[in-house]
Amino acid sequence: MSEPRFYITTPIYYVNASPHLGHSYTSVLCDAVRRFYDLMGYETYYLTGTDEHGENIMRVAREQGRSEQDLVDEVSASFRRMWPLLQVAPDDFIRTTERRHKLVVQAILEDLYQKGEIYKAEYEGVYCVQCERFYTDKEIDPTRPGVCPTHETELKRIREENYFFRMSQYQDWLREKIQNEPGFINPPQFANEVLGILQDPLEDLSISRPKSRLPWGIPFPFDPEHVVYVWFDALVNYMSALGYPGGVLFTRFWPAVNHVIAKDILRPHAVYWPTMLKAMGVECYQHLHVHGYWQSDGKKMSKTRSPAGAFPSRSNCRTSITRCCRTSTPRVRPCRRSWNACA
Ligand SMILES: [Zn+2]
Repeated sequence: MSEPRFYITTPIYYVNASPHLGHSYTSVLCDAVRRFYDLMGYETYYLTGTDEHGENIMRVAREQGRSEQDLVDEVSASFRRMWPLLQVAPDDFIRTTERRHKLVVQAILEDLYQKGEIYKAEYEGVYCVQCERFYTDKEIDPTRPGVCPTHETELKRIREENYFFRMSQYQDWLREKIQNEPGFINPPQFANEVLGILQDPLEDLSISRPKSRLPWGIPFPFDPEHVVYVWFDALVNYMSALGYPGGVLFTRFWPAVNHVIAKDILRPHAVYWPTMLKAMGVECYQHLHVHGYWQSDGKKMSKTRSPAGAFPSRSNCRTSITRCCRTSTPRVRPCRRSWNACA
């Protein structure tokens, strides 16, 4: 009988700024869980990496007067340098600017286009450059119209041609899946949050940006004037790193998948990603584990608000992180869930 299998992933980290304690926490957490499954006799695989396309990367590179590739090479390397200091040992580190990843994203787009899951339409809406997404009226605070609820910056009105993924048709399927599979999204409060999102009509997802506005991305294989929207690019890393569709690792470890994320990226992982997999005809991942934010002075720690800027250069980082995790549990609010066996 073959060994049971366990595949664990961190999100791929966005390289518009250097790593901070939040990234370290997720990476150490995944590493520890992976070692636990090793001890239980599972065949395990641990993936991490960096997300390297999009408008924010382009903006930061321009602000610094350098090429996008130069910026992402440097920041991605700073993430990889962290792992030995943290005694984190992933099996692979994927970068979305790698050829192996781009080819898989393009093959998936081509396939979905052939199946009629993708169409082109004109779209007008308000857009946050930092979020790299459009907002609907319902998502915006009515007392602060025209302001991004996440960044509190002004939203831009944009009218352009986009490609759309027919996400709306999977709304009932996704709702039923979450209702019928307790533990699919852990802890339950986040499953409830997604069910709340699904109470409103789910719209089709804009998955392209015109190359004229955003050249830093993967071109559409059937329309090179458009590049792929960051999430439709980034989420695919979990498969492209395993050599989807025919790779040995993909055959071995899919769908024994445990994604670990912070709560700010719940929607892409709990709504976009399962529906994308459904459209592709690929079995859904098994578990999504969601944790809270690290806080600094009562606010979410971020790349710009991190007391841990120098963290990776300190010795005994893993010990420090583990101690932090123990002593600051009320702030971290880790998920209380079972890492269910995924044989
Ligand atoms: Zn925003």
